[in-house]
Amino acid sequence: MKINRQSIAAGLMLAAMSCALMGTTVACKRASATSSDVAQQAAVAKDRSDTVASTTQVRLAGENDVPLGARVLMTVYPDYVKGYKGGKLVMSDGTSITWDDGRKKSHMELLDDADPEDMFAFTYDLNSWTPGKMQDAGRSRCEALFKKMYGASAQQVSRKLVPVRWPFGQATNSGGVNKSIKTVKFTSVNGANKQLEKVVAELERHPELHKYLAQSGAFYWRPVRGAKRLSAHSYGMTIDIGVKYSDYWRTQSTNENATIAYRNKYPHAIVEIFEKYGFIWGGRWYHYDTMHFEYRPEILMQAKL
Ligand SMILES: [Zn+2]
Repeated sequence: MKINRQSIAAGLMLAAMSCALMGTTVACKRASATSSDVAQQAAVAKDRSDTVASTTQVRLAGENDVPLGARVLMTVYPDYVKGYKGGKLVMSDGTSITWDDGRKKSHMELLDDADPEDMFAFTYDLNSWTPGKMQDAGRSRCEALFKKMYGASAQQVSRKLVPVRWPFGQATNSGGVNKSIKTVKFTSVNGANKQLEKVVAELERHPELHKYLAQSGAFYWRPVRGAKRLSAHSYGMTIDIGVKYSDYWRTQSTNENATIAYRNKYPHAIVEIFEKYGFIWGGRWYHYDTMHFEYRPEILMQAKL
């Protein structure tokens, strides 16, 4: 799958221009809005200034002849993705990962056998709360890349996990909440734990949301249900919350190609807080999994380009 580089280059230029005009770090995608919208955006800009989600105007790493997705990866994962040379991502340990294997892939293959380029085959749509047909931005993960960053085995991933304060408790099997469990283990790789801490700090200011926030765990080294690829939970940068209110596409059909009716019971306010700090939401997937939040700053950056 090829990204249309010309239109993206134009979009980048527009984003840069509108940001310069506004003189703020607010998300640039809506810069064509009315002046009152702009004033409103300027008001929230300060609040968003240190967030990953507001990195639209950040200069992308890498030169113009490097594929845009590779530049995004170099920008959001600077500890690991160091450059791009000869059609490969250059990693910090000196190894490399082929950017594009050149194969045309089915939907399932984009999920099960993704190269880094395939991760950008879908675009995460921040402007609609109903996912488009077969739009699964973020479900495609290049395993070689994620194993290199977060760990290639349960043991390796475990070594990078640290406790993050999660004051909203843990869901119990009987549908209750165990409030005595006040932390969750999350990876420190790519600063994901720090981003989750910011999410917690903001969620704490919204008591009306707390009933949705009991966690059901973060790290599990396991394949995706019904598939061979590893779940994002294997990497320790993903958390499930509010299982009691969750909806999952597989309750309707186990066939990835089936037409599925969308369902969601989560307040969007929770989603917006997670997205602000670099987490994507499984409820934005056609194959939805609404309790699922995953640290994927590259997907959010792509969405804002
Ligand atoms: Zn999940």
